[in-house]
Order: sequence, then structure tokens, then C-alpha cells
Amino acid sequence: MNKMKTYIPTQEDPAGIYVHIPFCIKKCSYCDFFSITDLSYTDNFIRALIQEMSMIRKDSLQFDTLYIGGGTPSLLDVRPVNQIIGAAHQFFEMLPDTEITMEINPGTANLDRLKGYQDAGVNRINVGVQSFQLENLKFLGRLHSSKDAERVIKHAQQAGFMNIGLDLIYGIPGQTPKAWLNDLKTATDLGPDHLACYMLTYEAGTPLARNLQTGRFRPMPEGLSADLFETTISFLNDAGYVHYEISNFARSTSNEFEPKRSRHNQKYWSFVPYLGLGPSAHSFIEPIRWWNYRSVKNYIQELEAGRLPLEDREVLTSEQRMLEAIYLGLRQADGININGFHRRFGVHFTDIFEKTIADLKKRRFITMTRNRCALTRKGMLFLDSIASMFV
Ligand code: SF4
Repeated sequence: MNKMKTYIPTQEDPAGIYVHIPFCIKKCSYCDFFSITDLSYTDNFIRALIQEMSMIRKDSLQFDTLYIGGGTPSLLDVRPVNQIIGAAHQFFEMLPDTEITMEINPGTANLDRLKGYQDAGVNRINVGVQSFQLENLKFLGRLHSSKDAERVIKHAQQAGFMNIGLDLIYGIPGQTPKAWLNDLKTATDLGPDHLACYMLTYEAGTPLARNLQTGRFRPMPEGLSADLFETTISFLNDAGYVHYEISNFARSTSNEFEPKRSRHNQKYWSFVPYLGLGPSAHSFIEPIRWWNYRSVKNYIQELEAGRLPLEDREVLTSEQRMLEAIYLGLRQADGININGFHRRFGVHFTDIFEKTIADLKKRRFITMTRNRCALTRKGMLFLDSIASMFV
């Protein structure tokens, strides 16, 4: 049993900043993140982004994460990345040990560029590998090869990055358990500090979802994708990775604060405030969530006119926040913090959900300790339906 003390984020933690770079060379067939393939907007976008930073500054908050995601941030040269990080330091109170992550797509960044990002202050990179099998990469509409992925990870190591994460996707039609195990083995052999393994989902409006609807392929049977989920956990646990969120694994370290977890992503799951900058980005300071236009043109136009590119906002009711706290808590291996729940909502989790808890415990979907309610491995397979039982 792992007795290591773990760092658990709280709402009082410093806030995070997410920057959305809305450019890709080509859209992948499964992706519903906002991005455009017209890179001619890049310079105007960077100017607008820095303008947004200067306008939104939150003097009441301190920040200890900056996450440059997208889109494909690694399409940017070193100079704009330098400008973004410089502006973050100029307009926000960034703490000295800030985690600065950048998403990297294989095939878009060479050794020199990676070194440049590091000199600019990036200290964590996350590589969108998705698969090491060519036929899967083609199915997903990815532009790179598995060799590109291996090369960029090795270059990142040569550049001196000490915190490298990889993203993989499983549940791809035709993928066999053996092929998935090969992907996991290839990934762990590269020695990343963090692995995110996502089950393929068919998001409405994507080419992949349309092709599924028109019967151009058959999805992986549910039973098999559930098996692959279990295989993933067993394999990565044996390889020394801690399963800390439904899709996320961090290399275990002897440091009690486990720096190899994604500090930034943990903020999303723990109601810590975050600012989202760039088109389509969402921000959250409890109880308000707001988001920007999902259009590069509108985004730039608004900022050029001296207005924040705000599309809309919502004030979450106590009930909505309670549901989110349950859903997000159950996603994490540490589960729902029962005392924290009481402090936030003024109600006892174990009292108001007594029956649901008893039912789920009996069916071995959850485990309860004095201060935690967490899903079992079996329960994780049914996260959505279990979370809806708390409505
Ligand atoms: S998956 Fe990544 S690279 Fe592909 S379209 Fe989406 S944001 Fe762009």
C-alpha cells in the first residue's frame, strides 16, 4: 500500500492561467477543440492575446501554473512564446516555482525550438502522441508518424526538460489488446513523467462522429474498451505510475508533493480559480464561469476595439456546484473530500446521500474512508451514471 503523503489541491491554492493557441495545420477527425488552419492570423492573435492579458489582470490572485495549450502551440516560434510568458509575468503575480506547460505536437518542433521554449521559461511539456501505430494515427487524422513522436520526446529530453508528459488514445476501432499494450510499453520505455490515456470519444459535429453515424466503421465494443481501461491501470501501476485521475497517471516520486502530477489540470478538478485566455477559453472563479468568443476574428476585433472578448458568463447555483464537486471529485483517485464538501456547502455528504452511498458500496462501485468517497476501479468504468445517481 502506498503510504506516501500526497499533495491534494484546495480552493485556497494559487490560481492557474490557460492560454489557448487556436491554430492547427489540419483538423484531426476526432477533435472538437476550437482551432483554425489559417495561420496568417498568428501575429494579430499574439498581439490580441497580450492585450487580453493586460486588460484582464487579476491583482487579487496569485498564480502558480501557466498552461499553453490549443490547438497546436508548438506551431509558434520561440519569440511569441517568449512574449506570452513575459506578458504573464508582467501582468500577473506569478509565483517563483510556477509550472509552465506547453503542448507539443510531434513533427512540429525540432531540438532548437524545444531548447528555445525552455530558455523562454517552459518547464513542462506534454506531447500529443495519441498512438504509436500508423493505422491508428491515420484513422485519427493525425499528420505525424510514431517516429516523429519518439524523436520529439528524445529531443525534449536532450533539451533538458525534466517534466515530460505524453497523451495516448485507446478504444480505437480495430485496436487489439496486444497493440494497446505495445503502445503502453513503447510509451513507458521512453520514460515520461506523466501519461494521459484517453478513451476515444465521438464528439458531436466531428468527422469521426459523422462517419460513425453513417456506418463507415464500427466502434470498439464497450466490453473491450473497459478491458483496455483495466489493462492500462494494471500496466502503468506495475511500471511505477500512480493513477491519480480517471485518465491521468504520474510517475511516482519520493517527493511528498508529487510534482509529476499535472499541477495545472488538478486545478480544474478542485475548483481552484483559473483564467482562460484566447478564443473559446473558459475561466472560473467560484461561483462564476465565463468564456471567450469561439472565433479568432471576433476575438481579435474585440480586443483591438479595447473590449474583452467575452461571449457569455454563468453564475453557478449551489446545486450546480455541488454536482460538479461530486463529478470532479469522483474523477480523482483521492475521491471527494467529505470534510471539504461540508465546509463548502454546509451539508453533510454522508447524510444527504446516505442511501446512494450504501447502494454504491454494496455494488462495490465506491469505497468510503473517514474523509473520502472514491470510485473503485470497477466504479470508474461507470463514472457518468454513478455521478448522476447523486442528483
Ligand atoms: S487534436 Fe490537436 S492537433 Fe488535432 S485538430 Fe485538435 S487541437 Fe489540432
